[in-house]
Amino acid sequence: MHIVMVASEFAPLAKVGGLADVVGGLSNELARQGHQVDVIIPRYKSLSLDPVLAWQQRIDRLTVPFFDRTVDARVFETQLRGCPATLRIFALEPIEESHLFDRDQLYGYPDDGTRFAWLSRAAMELIALWDQPPDIIHCHDWQTGLVPVLLYEAFQAQLARTRAVITLHNLHHQGVMGDDILHQVHLDPRRLKTPDRLLHPHGELNNLLKGGIVYANAITTVSRTYAHEIRTTEHGCGLQHTLNIHRDKLRGILNGIDTTVWNPSHDPVLSHPYSADAIEGKYENKRVLRERLGLADRFAPIVAVISRLDAQKGCHLMHHALRSSLGHNAQFALLGVAPDPRIGDEFRRLQDDIADHPDAHIELAFDDELAHLMYAGAEILVVPSRFEPCGLTQMIALAYGTVPVVRRTGGLGETVFDANHSGKPFDEVNGFTFDDDNEAGLDSALLRAIGLWHKHPEYFRKLQLNGIRTDRSWARPAREYIEIYTSLTSDS
Ligand code: ADP
Repeated sequence: MHIVMVASEFAPLAKVGGLADVVGGLSNELARQGHQVDVIIPRYKSLSLDPVLAWQQRIDRLTVPFFDRTVDARVFETQLRGCPATLRIFALEPIEESHLFDRDQLYGYPDDGTRFAWLSRAAMELIALWDQPPDIIHCHDWQTGLVPVLLYEAFQAQLARTRAVITLHNLHHQGVMGDDILHQVHLDPRRLKTPDRLLHPHGELNNLLKGGIVYANAITTVSRTYAHEIRTTEHGCGLQHTLNIHRDKLRGILNGIDTTVWNPSHDPVLSHPYSADAIEGKYENKRVLRERLGLADRFAPIVAVISRLDAQKGCHLMHHALRSSLGHNAQFALLGVAPDPRIGDEFRRLQDDIADHPDAHIELAFDDELAHLMYAGAEILVVPSRFEPCGLTQMIALAYGTVPVVRRTGGLGETVFDANHSGKPFDEVNGFTFDDDNEAGLDSALLRAIGLWHKHPEYFRKLQLNGIRTDRSWARPAREYIEIYTSLTSDS
């Protein structure tokens, strides 16, 4: 099968969060299972170059309509080192408006709508040039929500047999824009801005994610629980009605993790690799982590947080996790970046409060290497999210024998099974969960985890081993995606 991914992130080249891991991990696995996978992303200034073979310029000038003129694209192609040759990456660079992706950050600019609408149109122009149209175009989140709309409104002549899939990674961001964005890509707002198409549920604007939901042939989201929550609760962020209309197309598929990247037995960041059979190696990494963060060497577990610092992630409870850890004979380490400056200021104040504390460290940066070391060196990872479509950090923690403490929402409740309350067999429990979104709720789980580490180390070890031994690779989810792709292409 020939699958094209169109996305704004792709690990390991361009990453802000889990979207990158999912597009990277799924594409890689589909290619390993023998499918042709082409990934189309913008040529960001910050694309990381290490993991790729040399870029080849494939097209000097791809015509891309842009209002009443064109903003053409240079098309570059490469492959990832160590990945199957059936995985190709295309990076699109706007020639006339080169500033669109020549920026320090991937997102957060007033013209993000223009930037990703251009990507969507340019991707479709590229695909339409190919002699063999792909079977599937798979797009992700609002940034590429216009792709299914363009497929059915503008590219039927060239791509009549191609089907579109959209994955909803987070309903919180929907791309709500004025008519200009449709004019830019040569779509007609008079036709499209209707309640059953792109009209935002409140007000007069267009909703690009809704467009993707309405026009895609299949909709997936990243856990079964979230698939249910977005239709039936406020987690649908206003799109509950649209999702209910299109519910027959909607399916929840729990993400995997890329076990070639997240694997403590061959993680190049770790000076002391380890596995379930030799978990002692984990404690060498704890020593390295303490040195790196300036934490005292003493008999206490390390409680970690690795997260975007966003209201969604339960920042108020992260502050409390720090206090509770220090008050109950544990150390605390946080790695995170706050896109919102007000939240950033709060964490900077907290950082000042604990400066030089021998048992706590806060690192306000995006640092992939430190993240690897923290998953390996910590014993407990706290994920206190208000909502969490799937969540990858708890799954990575499990793979590294780090016991997750999570709020039971979305995918967190499908991956973490409470040591005391889940009713699961002894071999399947792997962490601690809580329901109430408040400090008492968090303590009800975190203090059990810290207490177990101190008082019943052999049982704590059992939780760690249960976590490491579970298969959470992309093999199973990739097969579920293939089932969906196959069902779409067999009825055409
Ligand atoms: P989201 O996509 O909502 O941010 P996920 O749990 O799905 O959350 O994915 C988060 C991914 O980003 C994980 O791979 C995690 O390790 C990584 N990550 C988050 N914050 C940082 C950071 N400050 N530095 C390095 N990696 C980070």
